[in-house]
Amino acid sequence: MIVAIDGPAGSGKGTVTKILADRLGLINLDTGATYRCVALMTLKNNYTLEDESKIVDLLPNIDIEFKRENGEEKVFLNGEDVTKEIRSKEVNKIVSQVSGITPVRIYMAELQRKMAKGKDVIMEGRDIGTYVFPNAEVKIYLDADVEERAKRRYKENLEKGVDMSYEEVLDNIKKRDENDKNKEIGALKVADGAIIVDTTSKTIEEVANEIENIIKLHSKKD
Ligand code: C5P
Repeated sequence: MIVAIDGPAGSGKGTVTKILADRLGLINLDTGATYRCVALMTLKNNYTLEDESKIVDLLPNIDIEFKRENGEEKVFLNGEDVTKEIRSKEVNKIVSQVSGITPVRIYMAELQRKMAKGKDVIMEGRDIGTYVFPNAEVKIYLDADVEERAKRRYKENLEKGVDMSYEEVLDNIKKRDENDKNKEIGALKVADGAIIVDTTSKTIEEVANEIENIIKLHSKKD
């Protein structure tokens, strides 16, 4: 079974996906983290966004693994724990553009399909229900007001030790929204058949319960 959770930054995808993966025993695939790894490799190689073909050449040398250690979801890039590094201000600044490079999208979407093969997964991203798995059994589009999303991300950053002011976070989210909606492939939009859940004035528990009910209703239908 594939459960696709799409939506903009700060809509609650990451937190809700983790909760539901635990509750329902689904494998959690954070597709944003895969693009963040490409952005981190770009920075590590001192490439800029102008070096598109060099970024594309990096792809076959990128090995990404998601592992659960002591109850925490960790991301490994070529064997190195990059869980924290991929959330840095520097990565935030370029990730949306890096993920907009068409060959990067095609390659990563294929990698994401391989990661999900033969498994029951809950995948969060921007284009899971539209492009990566258009036939996903359950499709959810999470949304919330941009100020509310920036507030959440700012708070999360403080907890994680990421140094960004509220204004910087808001500005970054607005720019990424704009970029994500205008991608040539896999643009951020509501997928056909997706259920829209507005999380602005809901607690994460309420959102998780709502989606859990949708998934359970779907499972009963089969
Ligand atoms: O979800 P997260 O904020 O970690 O995603 C980082 C960036 O990766 C997003 O701003 C978006 O540009 C890109 N992304 C994407 N398609 C996905 C997931 C993320 O383009 N499926």
